[in-house]
Amino acid sequence: MGVPQVEPALTPPSIKPILPKKPNMGSGKTRTKKRDIPEGLWIKCPSCEAMIFDKELDENLKICSKCSHHFPIGARERIHSLVETCTFQELDADMESVDVLAFKGASTYKSKLDSYRKSTTLKDAVVTGLGKIGPHRVALGVMDFTFLGGSMGSVVGEKLTRLIERGTSNNLPVIIISTSGGARMYEGMFSLMQMAKTSAALAYHAQHRLAYISILTHPTMAGVMASYATLGDLILAEPKAMIGFAGARVIKDTTQAELPPGFQTSEFLLDHGLMTRLCHARK
Ligand SMILES: [Zn+2]
Repeated sequence: MGVPQVEPALTPPSIKPILPKKPNMGSGKTRTKKRDIPEGLWIKCPSCEAMIFDKELDENLKICSKCSHHFPIGARERIHSLVETCTFQELDADMESVDVLAFKGASTYKSKLDSYRKSTTLKDAVVTGLGKIGPHRVALGVMDFTFLGGSMGSVVGEKLTRLIERGTSNNLPVIIISTSGGARMYEGMFSLMQMAKTSAALAYHAQHRLAYISILTHPTMAGVMASYATLGDLILAEPKAMIGFAGARVIKDTTQAELPPGFQTSEFLLDHGLMTRLCHARK
């Protein structure tokens, strides 16, 4: 087969043993399907190592059909899969982080912001807005790990706070879907104070007896976990997501103790009472 060797990360090293399996996807249309496979669009499941055609993965909401591994989903894609067509009204779409500390590390914060804005086409690590899920109007915030590890800087905190406040004033439930490495170190205290700010906004929202559903996806860690991610009336999580505060190695080194099996997974936290339930993205 003349399958071009492009995008090596997505293309299996040896295509020949895999291609013959794929026509099982549809009976009677195998030839068309084969012709429709233009280039390296196979993705290897990191969990069961099955090769999945990316269109099939998209149709299955980015879940491996063999082992139910949940692949990462970008914020806009997730909103598209959740919200009824044409009902999503984005809020604060143009809000952008500024480099208040003039932070310089291996590269400057400003240059990092510029490159992530280009590579993700997002302005920051969260997209917020009002929309309908089924018949219900909701205030929805969805984080995106591809923008600086989903880190929470002042823009993520401010957008979520405004979303929660909009939910409170409009009597709407709030849903936040988190994925984050934690607070954004490039903004120092400005990022840490977002923990208190978002938590306070949620307290006012709760005083109005409105529901807040927090959905944790892989990975949700640190400052985000220590604030709005764990304040849900319902806390749902993807199966096998890494969820915690400090990293397992740091805890192990600090406490000098063996960590229990499955530590910092959503299953472990469900067993220990933090989660309401685990939730398959398809259901
Ligand atoms: Zn799999």
